[in-house]
Amino acid sequence: MFISRLFRRGTPVVSFEVFPPKAGSPVENVYRTIEAIADLDPGYVSVTYGAGGSSRDRTVEIASRLRNVYGLEALAHLTGMSHSVDEIDGVCSSLIASGVENILALRGDPPLEGSPEVRSYPYATGLIGHIKEAFPGRFCVAAAAYPEGHVECPDLERDLDHLEAKVRAGADFLITQLFFDNESFHRFRDRLAARAVDVPLVAGVFPVLNAAQVQRIVTLCGASLPPKFTRVMARYANHPEALAEAGVAYATEQIVDLLSAGVDGIHLYTMNRPETTRRIMANIGRLRRVAPACGR
Ligand SMILES: Cc1cc2nc3c(=O)[nH]c(=O)nc-3n(C[C@H](O)[C@H](O)[C@H](O)COP(=O)(O)OP(=O)(O)OC[C@H]3O[C@@H](n4cnc5c(N)ncnc54)[C@H](O)[C@@H]3O)c2cc1C
Repeated sequence: MFISRLFRRGTPVVSFEVFPPKAGSPVENVYRTIEAIADLDPGYVSVTYGAGGSSRDRTVEIASRLRNVYGLEALAHLTGMSHSVDEIDGVCSSLIASGVENILALRGDPPLEGSPEVRSYPYATGLIGHIKEAFPGRFCVAAAAYPEGHVECPDLERDLDHLEAKVRAGADFLITQLFFDNESFHRFRDRLAARAVDVPLVAGVFPVLNAAQVQRIVTLCGASLPPKFTRVMARYANHPEALAEAGVAYATEQIVDLLSAGVDGIHLYTMNRPETTRRIMANIGRLRRVAPACGR
């Protein structure tokens, strides 16, 4: 089923992100995560795509299994920048053969070792347009959005122009980069509304589990850290279990605020940690059923 249809049901769509284990690690690790969260009734589960396409086969395999073994709707991430058009078409054809109808179309980041050769689309817009044209009616396509602007584009209005181009190219809904300051998300949603960008906007929420993650996140995506967040981090930095508990509480508070504001969906970055996901879902169990998806 096209995920875009879920947003018409009137309640917020809660979804999870999992990632394929690194090459050499058993793929069963991710299946254990999925089995431990499948009964939480996610609207869909997304599977990331390794930088430079390093997890290509595993992403397709996991998305296929989500759909065909676990009966969950799957959203396969796909990055364009380091693939040829033929390779992209090959991944799309494998997804069709597996019954997976949803793709999160991304540009991708260069792998840590260096810049990949750009082999097809230097920006996600091109990839989105290609999928829609080459496989008409076969895929619901999502795109990434950045409430605080993408790290490479300091001018937020220009970044929004690029986001609008992704929607014009055919993006059916948007999932945001993680953020710790909900006000940045609320302002972003208002800016999109002012531009009449009206595809569903899903808020990406990342429960922090340890202090090292925070530094990595800030370096990678430039998320701003509000004072109430840094206070929590400072207070519990040397107490891993307390910090993880505070991370769950902080993410829960973010979600309660987002649901109260009538967000279309919440995408939980699970980091393949089912216990954290289960705790957050227990906290918001009733809220996700009653909050309206629109009408703020
Ligand atoms: C929800 C989500 C999931 C993700 N999943 C993955 C994953 O599975 N695997 C992975 O490798 N990465 C993933 N990423 C990271 C993503 O690949 C990076 O953030 C990447 O740097 C940008 O991808 P994009 O699709 O947003 O790129 P784009 O939309 O192409 O934007 C990239 C940059 O180019 C600028 N830009 C866009 N169009 C133009 C233009 N025409 N001219 C000039 N500048 C332009 C934008 O403003 C932006 O700064 C994910 C990100 C998010 C938010």
